[in-house]
Amino acid sequence: MIIVMKPIATLDDVKRVVDKVKFLGFEPHITNDDERTLIRISGDDRQIDREQINILPNVEAVVPTLKPYKLVSRELHLTDTIVDVDGIKVGGKDVVVMAGPCSVENEEQLLTSAKIVREAGIKVLRGGAFKPRTSPYTFQGLGEEGLKILAKAKRETGLKIVTEVMDDADVNLVAEYADILQIGSRNMQNIKLLRAVSKIRKPVLLKRGFSATLTEFLMSAEYLLDGGNDQIILCERGIRTFVEYTRNTLDLNIIPAIKRLSHLPIIVDPSHGTGRYDFIIPMSRASIAAGADGLLVEMHPKPEDAISDGAQSLKPEKLFQLINDLKQIAAAVGRNLI
Ligand code: PEP
Ligand code: MN
Repeated sequence: MIIVMKPIATLDDVKRVVDKVKFLGFEPHITNDDERTLIRISGDDRQIDREQINILPNVEAVVPTLKPYKLVSRELHLTDTIVDVDGIKVGGKDVVVMAGPCSVENEEQLLTSAKIVREAGIKVLRGGAFKPRTSPYTFQGLGEEGLKILAKAKRETGLKIVTEVMDDADVNLVAEYADILQIGSRNMQNIKLLRAVSKIRKPVLLKRGFSATLTEFLMSAEYLLDGGNDQIILCERGIRTFVEYTRNTLDLNIIPAIKRLSHLPIIVDPSHGTGRYDFIIPMSRASIAAGADGLLVEMHPKPEDAISDGAQSLKPEKLFQLINDLKQIAAAVGRNLI
C-alpha cells in the first residue's frame, strides 16, 4: 500500500502517519514525488484498515498496490522517468542509440569502433570488458585493461560508455569508467549484484533475463530502486522460445507492456535478440515504431574478425544506414533521434 500525502502536508503530518504505520507493526519507506510525500508500506499489508490512516490530517489517499512491485510501478509515478546520462536523456522525446562491439578486444579495434560510432552521430559507445560467456573456453574479456581502453575512447571521442559489470566485487571499479553500468541477462536475478549496483549514483542498463517474465524483470528493477538508484533503463534482449532460426525471440510486446505498467524507459537490443546481423535493421525499426526509447546495437569494424558475436554485429556502413532509417521512423512516431 502507498499513502499519498497532500502537497500541503507538513513534516508533522508525515510523522503522524509514519508513527501510525510503525504502531501497526509495519516498516514505512518515505519517498518524495515532484510535489508530494509518499509513504510506502512493504510486506503483507492487507490486514491494515485503510480508514485508520485515511482520517489522519493531510492524507490525500491510501492506495492498495495490487502489483508485487511498487517503486517501478506507474500506479503512483505517473510521469515517465527520464534517465540522465551526463546530459543525454533516455526516456523522454529523444531516441538514444548505443552501439559498439560486443567485446573490447584491443585498443585499435575499440578506437576504430568508437570513431565509426561517433561518425554515425551516436552518443553512447558499448563494449564489454567483463564478458559473461556461455563457454569457459571462449574469450572472457580484457577486464580492467578493457575498461582503460574504453576510457581512452571516451577521452578521444567524447562518447559516453555503457559496459557490463558481472560481479558485485567489481561494481566500484566499473563505475569509475562507465557512464552506464550494464547488468547482463544472465545476472538479472543476481541479487547481490543488484543490491551493490543500487548503491551507485550512476545510470544502470538492466537487461531482461532470457527466461524472465515481465513481473520478474520489473522485480529486479525494484531491487535497484529500493536500494536508492532510480536511474534505471530496462532492456529487452530476446527470450528463449521454441524458435530455432534466431538466437532468441525478440519480445517486442514487452515495450507497450512496460510502458503501461512502469515509468522506466525501455530500450531494445536487436543483436542478442536475433543473433543475426541481417535482422538488426528491421527489428530496430520495429522497436522504435513500437515505442522503445532507444537501442543497444552491436557493430564491429570487421565482423568477420570479431572475437565474440560477429554474426550479430553490423558492419559500419549498415550502422549508418540504420541511423538514417531510424531518423525517419522516430519522426513518424513523434520522437527525435539523437
Ligand atoms: C551484452 O550486451 O554484452 C550481453 C552479454 O548481452 P546479454 O546479457 O543480453 O546476453
Ligand atoms: Mn554480445
